Amino acid sequence: MNTSPMNHDVSHIADTTPEKTDFIRQIIRDDLASGKHRQIRTRFPPEPNGYLHIGHAKAICLNFGVGAEFGGRVNLRFDDTNPSKEDIEYVESIQSDVKWLGFDWAELRHASDYFETFYLCAEKLIRDGKAFVCDLNAEQVREYRGNLNEPGKNSPYRDRSAEENLDLFRRMRAGEFEDGARTLRAKIDMGSGNINLRDPAIYRIRHVSHQNTGDAWCIYPMYDYAHCISDALEGITHSLCTLEFEDHRPLYDWCIDNIDLAGHAPLWQNLVDRGFKTDVSKPRQIEFSRLNINFTVMSKRKLMALVTDGLVKGWDDPRMPTLCGLRRRGYTPASMRLFADRIGISKQNSLIDFSVLEGCVREDLDAKGQRRLAVIDPIKLVIKNLPEDFSDTLHFSNHPKDESAGKREVPLSREVWIERDDFMEVPPKGFHRLVPGGEVRLRGVGIVKCIDVIKNGDDIVQLHGELDLDSRPGLPGSERKVKGTIHWVSAKHGVEAEVRLYDRLFTVANPDDDSDGKTYRDYLNPDSVRIVKAYVEPAAASLPAETNIQFERLGYFVTDRLDHSAGKPVFNRTVTLRDVWAKGV
Ligand code: ATP
Ligand code: MG
Repeated sequence: MNTSPMNHDVSHIADTTPEKTDFIRQIIRDDLASGKHRQIRTRFPPEPNGYLHIGHAKAICLNFGVGAEFGGRVNLRFDDTNPSKEDIEYVESIQSDVKWLGFDWAELRHASDYFETFYLCAEKLIRDGKAFVCDLNAEQVREYRGNLNEPGKNSPYRDRSAEENLDLFRRMRAGEFEDGARTLRAKIDMGSGNINLRDPAIYRIRHVSHQNTGDAWCIYPMYDYAHCISDALEGITHSLCTLEFEDHRPLYDWCIDNIDLAGHAPLWQNLVDRGFKTDVSKPRQIEFSRLNINFTVMSKRKLMALVTDGLVKGWDDPRMPTLCGLRRRGYTPASMRLFADRIGISKQNSLIDFSVLEGCVREDLDAKGQRRLAVIDPIKLVIKNLPEDFSDTLHFSNHPKDESAGKREVPLSREVWIERDDFMEVPPKGFHRLVPGGEVRLRGVGIVKCIDVIKNGDDIVQLHGELDLDSRPGLPGSERKVKGTIHWVSAKHGVEAEVRLYDRLFTVANPDDDSDGKTYRDYLNPDSVRIVKAYVEPAAASLPAETNIQFERLGYFVTDRLDHSAGKPVFNRTVTLRDVWAKGV
């Protein structure tokens, strides 16, 4: 008998689904066919300034997915050029989330590994007359920049000599100037129609320590400058990013072309000396649309506020769209990858319905989650025609569609818990469960008739029933039809458990909409969590932490990965069996 619970499966769904044909994979196929690349390289480049969310899962599944499908290499690179918001806590959580999703990186890198190279590249740009130190303050820079309709004006510092620029830049590095006093800017074109090319800043002064480099630096490179050089140093062939970077692509290409890493090995020799492998490439940036999902917020700033203001219980609160939150909620890595496959990759911005995500976890858990019995709003049913000390052990299939999941023992006694709402004293028409004098099938036991309702005032405290002994499984009477079947848990054997009934965190489809003066905080769902006491069968209580199951008729649940133990079982509801939001949307 195999009663081992489902384990998190890391086999890649990509292996079994048909070949994907999105435009990025098409480009990669062409590049391999034409011989432009013999092997592709991609990277996932999070900034360690928060926890990863479901939007990141799309980018992770894309980068690691194409790596696996085309025999490429994929790096995890921390884009850590903005030290004031970054923290080692995020560096660690990001690694664990990527691994949980089922992916592993060829190399773990930090943009900060390349700070010296970035610096040398900047000196080269200065010597080539392509970068200058600018003394304008932030406000003046804005004024000089122009706007979409007007060209910008050259900075008065634009024509400094290379010698003066080099001297000032070195003194910036040496810490002679305070934050914001000067910047290093690329010298491109203040008249460009693309504002990103109007002499963008590539270095700024920040006297803050960095989670990876400590106090070694007080100047830090800007994202646009650091990202493309990092890609080139790692030999990235296809630099996949979201659409908001489309307008930055000319700057990406400008840096790559003007720095010309391939032609100037001394720029990265120090990396080789420090043991880093480099395989300098000319990467190509390709943009795809971000994932947006309704009924949630995804900006790191808002997620951070939910945590710091105590509106949820931490980054891994099961209501959060973070990967660690979804994990704690019971979402499986396979369900996340299925979701990424299902939404696909394109350049069209769209809003994905939350039910698509829920559909994916239902599909995965329907296939893999073992079945168990639990009663979450219990009322006792005493089967009067069984002896007081009656006890039996039933054998239930762990999975209705998968014999290999085996069977488990389910104890039965004279008293069982059933759901309070499976009984109605005055039933509406069409109610097919238990009513006074009526019959219902107790799952796997037989047909029970309600012969008495014990009340205390208006409160129903207990039900009395009579089991049709001929209707027990295997006996001829078991064929007899009754309309309803309900689940139960033996009162003598049932284990008390805490069940956390989670629901969506927001009540409206677009909590980001603040047009009427309300904010996402005004749309928090007051019923997003309800904690109840329940009774579960022993084979549910004894499951290891983080096991996904279906409680029959109730939904998909997971044993909480932190709080659950056999002695004190805790179950989180992942999702209901059916979409209960569809009609309300
Ligand atoms: P923030 O600007 O708040 O830091 P971010 O989205 O830029 O957030 P990063 O850590 O820089 O966060 O993102 C890492 C990678 O994940 C980037 O390549 C980014 O494009 C991608 N990514 C982030 N959010 C989404 C999303 N909603 N859909 C698809 N990809 C995303
Ligand atoms: Mg970012």
